[in-house]
Order: sequence, then structure tokens, then C-alpha cells
Amino acid sequence: MSVPYTTIIGLEVHVQLSTATKLFCGCGTRFGGAPNTQTCPVCIGMPGVLPVMNGRAFELALRTALALNCEIAPYTKWDRKQYFYPDLPKGYQISQYDLPFSFDGWLAISDPKERFPAKKVGIIRAHLEEDAGKSMHDEATGRADSRIDLNRCGTPLLEIVSQPDLRSALEAKAYLTELKLLLEYLEVSDCNMQEGSLRVDANVNLHIDAPGERLAKTPIVEIKNMNSFRAVERAIAYEADRQYDLWRERQIELGQPGGHKTTRGWDDTAGVTRPQREKEESADYRYFPDPDLTPVTVTREQIAAVRDQLPEPPPALRARFEAQFGLTPYDCEVLVSSGKPMVAYFLELAGLIGDGKTAVNWVTQDLARTLNERQVPLAEFPIRPPALAELIQRVQAGEFNTSKAREVFEAMLAQDLSVADAIAKLGITRVDESELVALCEKLLADNPRIVADVKAGKLQAAGGFVGQAKKLNPNVNPARVRELCLELIAKMGS
Ligand SMILES: [Zn+2]
Repeated sequence: MSVPYTTIIGLEVHVQLSTATKLFCGCGTRFGGAPNTQTCPVCIGMPGVLPVMNGRAFELALRTALALNCEIAPYTKWDRKQYFYPDLPKGYQISQYDLPFSFDGWLAISDPKERFPAKKVGIIRAHLEEDAGKSMHDEATGRADSRIDLNRCGTPLLEIVSQPDLRSALEAKAYLTELKLLLEYLEVSDCNMQEGSLRVDANVNLHIDAPGERLAKTPIVEIKNMNSFRAVERAIAYEADRQYDLWRERQIELGQPGGHKTTRGWDDTAGVTRPQREKEESADYRYFPDPDLTPVTVTREQIAAVRDQLPEPPPALRARFEAQFGLTPYDCEVLVSSGKPMVAYFLELAGLIGDGKTAVNWVTQDLARTLNERQVPLAEFPIRPPALAELIQRVQAGEFNTSKAREVFEAMLAQDLSVADAIAKLGITRVDESELVALCEKLLADNPRIVADVKAGKLQAAGGFVGQAKKLNPNVNPARVRELCLELIAKMGS
């Protein structure tokens, strides 16, 4: 049954850019340092200090904005966003207000299972800002004390704000998945959600559009504190239900008294959103241009130079692999979603064996499964493309079949062997053609019944030869045995 409303979702994604140092000082950005060891007078806001912009952060932000099809402002400035919070010792955050450095972009999303139509999700703006510190509330000791770690103060964030173009939790998840993949291909962020490198807030409300009734909009709720895509999906689904129930009870509309935007936090354990402090209106932040930082100008030449260096984005890769190697859309999707290192591995392998379809099967099945089982990154995987190519080429040359090749692959891994050594160890020897012909002739002589069936047109009966052949010689290539038996029977005449 369809629901009598449409869920309207806009996402704000904060991405920590992969710079070695912070946005306005030389402190390190490494995650997991002892509290307050990566700070200096600039990032903790001591009086009289002067911030200096990190050019690398700006470049990474520019690369992302261009890949998101954004317009780039030729002139952009920094603003102070004033608010008081214990983990923000300066009393303001350096951000961008009315002149973000990029705006009006889009990201295309689609669903391989076609549960929603492919669409372009608008990007309102992407702007740079510095992160705040972190409050650690320790209630376990019974003292309910709070400690502040300022290591994260001043870490560069790119805030990417989407238009409210998403219509379901599923679409929101697809947007986030595609955005994260793009950021990984661009190598602008490690996107590690556990470490807070990618954080998501969702703005959600409902358009109540029951047939024959006036369209009504529920007040917007900003959901914060979601640290996985699964949490985003669950939080949106929960919030849609909650807003609909509230609407039926109280009929409060967006913009009416009591219909202002509110902020709620997601409690992943309880599976509910809970009210948080009321959201400040932007006027409450008393934004004003930061007097310590000069505006940034970006030339057409700089934009062109960064654009030239952009890697092929995921949608282009999917399309290219389909056209160049004849892969199915599903295989392209799986391969590209596996990330840039896997794609590089695939390309090397496909080039060596001259066969993209076989390469994608090995990479997305055997290789991906093994990496998953062993929990190792691809960079540390011992079988490199040349070795895997050698193994596959031996299959192509008819030395053994794919299932034997998998045994060789396992032996190479388990004992760190070369292809040749693994083959020798498993006792796989190539059965030469005359030997194989002799074996097939014996099979035909021993099985007149099967021969008769095949002659009568029941070709599937030839499968009976294969099982027997394997017992006589485990090294035979089953496909070749079947082929050869059929040839010999054909030559026998009727
Ligand atoms: Zn610092």
C-alpha cells in the first residue's frame, strides 16, 4: 500500500579533507592522537594569532566541487559563525556564509534494481569550514564529568549541501553511497565514518498529498548524529512515520506557529530520534567576514588545471567498462563500487590476459571473496595481476579448467607459491592430446549405451563420459573430454 505522503529529504554531508595539516595552522590532522596534543595558539583561538589558509585543502575542495559539477566562485571570502560551545574555544567557527566557493552542482544516482528512477540530485553549495573539537562526557565514573579534546579544532571540512531532491531513505542511501565512492576516487578524503571523516545530517519533512486534499507540508526536522548509512536510512524511515503520526494528531504545518525547523538526534540503539537544542536561525550566528583572512580568488587557469587532473569518475568508468570489455551493467557496478585499487588491479589483469569478462569474474568473485575472508587490503594481497594472469592464461591454453585453477589459486595463497610451483605441488600435469584421444576411445568402447544415446541426438548424455574420465585421470579438462567424445562419435558414422 502506498503512503499518503511524500518524504522530502535534503542531506548535509561534512567531509574531512585528507590534508596533513589543519585548515589555518600547521597542526597535524592525524586521528587518534592523545587528547590536546595536536593544537596550537591559532587553532584554539588564543588572542593575537593569525590564521593562514592551507592551499592544499582549497585544492582538494576545488577538485571535489568540479567533480560535483559545481560552479566555482571567482571570489570567495571567509566568515565567522559566532556561537558558544565548550569545544569551540574561539567562540566562532571560520566558515563561508553568503559567498561559498562553489554552488549549483549535481550528482547522478540510480538503482541497479530500479526501485527508483535514475535522477540528478542538485547540490546547493559546497563550502569549506573548520571543524570544532570534541566533548567527551563520562558518566561511567558517576561524576558525570566532561572533558574536551581540541585536536580536531581547525581540521578542514567540506560541507556539501544537497537540494531537497531525495524522496526516500533508499534514495538517500544511494546518494550517500555514490558521493562516498566519488570522494574515494578523487582521493580527497578517507571517508572513514567511524573516525568521523564523513558525517551526515538529514533535513526531512513530509508533503501530505492525499488524493483530493490540499497539499500540506510538515515542519522540517534536521536529524543529527548519524554515523553510518544504515543509521541514515533507519532515521529517515523512523522520522517519516513519526511526522505522519504527529500530523494526524496536530496538523501543524511548516511555517505556521509551532511549525519552525527543529533539530533531533538519532539514537541508534533505541532506533528513535530525540529532540535536541533548538536550531539557531542563521541571524543568531551573527556571521561577519573574518578580518584576519584575505578573500580567495580562483582563476580560470587554476580551475582548468584542476579539471584536467580529475580522475575518471565512477559513472564514466561504469560506461567505459561496459563498452570496452562488454561487461554487464551489474559487473560494472560491482567492479567500480569495489573501489579504485580494485579497478586498477582489474585493468592490469584484463590487459595481460586480453579478456575483460574473465578478468572481472576473477576480480569480483575469487579475489573479492578472499580479501573479505582474510580482511586484508588489496595492496597487501600476495597474488599480483601478473601471477593471476599466468594462471588464467594456462586455463585459456587448455592445460586445466577453471575449477582446477581455483585450487591452484588457493594453493598459491596458502603456501605463498608461484603458479608453476602450486601446479607442481597439486600434481596437475597437462594431459597431451594423444593420451586424451586414447582415453576417450576407451570410454566410447566401455559405454555403448551412451554412444547410442548421443547418436540418437541426446547430446546431454555425453556428460556421462566426463565423470568417468575424471576418475581415470583427474588432470583431464572436462570440457575437452566432452568435445572430443562427441567428435569421435560423429566420425563413427551411424
Ligand atoms: Zn593549530
